[in-house]
Amino acid sequence: MIDSVVSKLQIIRYPPRYPKSVYLYITNECNLDCKKCYYRTPDDEKQQLSLKRLTPLFREWKKYGLTSIAIGGGEPLLHPEIFEIVELAKQMSFFIAVTTNGTILKPIKPNRVHISYDKLHPTWHCEKLIKRAIKYYKDLGFEILKNFFNPLDLFIDSFQPFHS
Ligand code: SF4
Repeated sequence: MIDSVVSKLQIIRYPPRYPKSVYLYITNECNLDCKKCYYRTPDDEKQQLSLKRLTPLFREWKKYGLTSIAIGGGEPLLHPEIFEIVELAKQMSFFIAVTTNGTILKPIKPNRVHISYDKLHPTWHCEKLIKRAIKYYKDLGFEILKNFFNPLDLFIDSFQPFHS
């Protein structure tokens, strides 16, 4: 009896030996200069992770059982290879989420899009801009998930495709 419980616990293997998800900063470039940004300063030298550099990393992560990748920056939609990076991650069956400040709209197709909307950004209270981003991703087929309510009756939203 005890042996069977122990063997079941071994199957669970918690904590896992390797991380299950990573947060990937693919660029430090951004079109906003939020005063309290702790990812970058406007004077930083531009740095990017290229598709060429990421491809072997993705392969290695797959080997170790990683299941999800959250892509951020900087503003990841400024990365010239954002489509290819998302596509490769999806082809490799990672669950892929992209966090954007919502000011740049591109028809990316990750599993989830997060629009980062908080007091740190100069876009805070830019109702029109955030609504535009929400509509854009909704039109691309993403479902709106409300994370929280804000005083303007807007949302920080996560968008998840209807079909993925
Ligand atoms: S949008 Fe994000 S990455 Fe860009 S400056 Fe603001 S806090 Fe930093």
